[in-house]
Order: sequence, then C-alpha cells, then structure tokens
Amino acid sequence: MSLAGKTAVVTGSNSGIGLGVARELAKAGADIVLNSFTDRDEDHKLAADLGAEFGVKGRYIKADMSKGAECRALVEQAGQVDILVNNAGIQHVAPIDQFPVEKWDAIIAINLSSAFHTTAAALPLMRKAGWGRIINIASAHGLTASPFKSAYVAAKHGIVGFTKVTALETAEEPITCNAICPGYVLTPLVEAQIPDQMKTHNMSREEVIKKVMLDRQPSKEFATVEEMGGTAVFLCSAAAAQITGTTISVDGGWTAL
Ligand code: NAD
Repeated sequence: MSLAGKTAVVTGSNSGIGLGVARELAKAGADIVLNSFTDRDEDHKLAADLGAEFGVKGRYIKADMSKGAECRALVEQAGQVDILVNNAGIQHVAPIDQFPVEKWDAIIAINLSSAFHTTAAALPLMRKAGWGRIINIASAHGLTASPFKSAYVAAKHGIVGFTKVTALETAEEPITCNAICPGYVLTPLVEAQIPDQMKTHNMSREEVIKKVMLDRQPSKEFATVEEMGGTAVFLCSAAAAQITGTTISVDGGWTAL
C-alpha cells in the first residue's frame, strides 16, 4: 500500500508516539507535517531529515495545541490534509481536590479541544479532496480510569466520544475517524512519571515499571511507537475503509481485564 500523494499532519510530533506515527506514515509514502509548540532549528531539521529518509516532503509547522486559533492555523498552513493525526497530549497526576486548575485547563485544551479545532478546519479540505482519515490518539484511559488522572481520563474519554460523532457526521463520505488507544508506551511523557512514582512507592525504577506501570498491562511489556504507527497506516489502508467511529486498543490486554 502506498500513501504517495497524501499529506499527513500529526500534532505533537517532535517526540514520542507522534514522531513514531509520522515515521511509519512517511515510510508508507505520505508527505509529513510535524508539529509542536516550539520553533527550533532542530524541529525543522527533524522534519527535513524524516522526509529525506523516505523520499517524501517533510515540513515542520509550529503551533500551540492549547490555543484553538493556532490549531486551525496549523491546518491552514499545511494547505492539504488527507490524514490528520490528533496526537498532542500532556499529563498531570494529582488528587481531584488538589488538582491545579491551570493543569486541568491545559490538559482539556491540548488533549481534547485541539482535536475539535483541527478536525473542524481539516474536514472541508478532506471533502474537497474526496478522501480523509482522522486518527485520534486516545488511550487505554479513554476506556478505563485510574485514580489521580482526572483531567487526562476525562479528556481521553471525551476524545473517544468526539471520534464517534466525527465518524457519524462523515459516515456517508470517503472519510473515516477512529481512535487508537495505547497502553503504556515508553516515551518522554511516561519517562517523566517514573521519578515521582519511585518516590511515592519507594521503589526502584525497574520496580515502578514492572509493579506499577505494567501492573495493568497483562503482556508486561511496553507497547511501541512503531506499533502505533503501524496501526495508523492500517487505518489509512483500503482494508480499513469501513472501519469508522471505533477504538483500536494497542495495550497488551489492559482493557481486556
Ligand atoms: P510525548 O511527551 O513524547 O509527546 C507529546 C507531544 O506533544 C510532544 O511532541 C510535545 O511537544 C507535544 N505537545 C505537548 N504540548 C503541546 C502543545 N501545547 N502544542 C503542540 N504540541 C504539544 O508523549 P507521548 O507519550 O508520545 O504522547 C503522545 C500521545 O499519546 C498523547 O496524546 C498521550 O496522551 C497519548 N498516549 C501516550 C501513552 C504512553 O504510554 N506514552 C499511552 C496512551 C496514550
């Protein structure tokens, strides 16, 4: 399968899952737009190098996904958006009664509202092109909950609901919208949680990984960014044309528990 001639915009893609998904889409032939809120030479170089590696166009567009207008500007600047991957996300862990309001607002804005803005801006382009794939990177936390992650779990459940509505509104068109629900993937987002967990549980790094993080992941292994990318490529394939409005768990069995 080739995605040659298609352009994929992946939000929050200068690291982690977003970058992994962008890589697999580039490998499949799509031109790539990487994004984050920074505007460093290394961000632009990352996109150029990715494009060069796979013989596709690689661009980087700075846009802060916590701001609706910048989400829409990202799509406008990209110009062509055949594949939209709403991936940007942050995490904060605290009990509800101590959860900082600004963290709640930021998580809802970046992990949920950004997808509304980018989708709203991209749908007219997809309709004009006569083809579109919208892939929302939700989480096992879009289907189940954990204590102390109120904003994250609310945003991820929200994005699963938004995925269904987008799918229904485009059901009679050659556009699909689905959510990938990863379990734990060892990215900077997860890495950043390890020191706190070590302190909270008085455990070593290895103990935190096995006994806390992978406790609910029956495979006892992290999922990988390549697996997320491969799932995204599948959702762009002809075989997935009738898959819409659903979630695909890539979580080592977490949500089967
Ligand atoms: P990460 O921290 O490696 O990547 C997050 C990306 O989002 C980075 O590129 C960062 O620059 C970008 N970003 C953050 N704030 C932004 C903003 N305001 N504007 C634009 N970009 C912004 O994390 P990750 O683990 O790769 O997470 C990616 C997505 O996958 C998130 O939505 C996350 O919730 C989801 N997810 C991750 C895991 C996991 O275990 N890593 C599990 C389930 C779901």
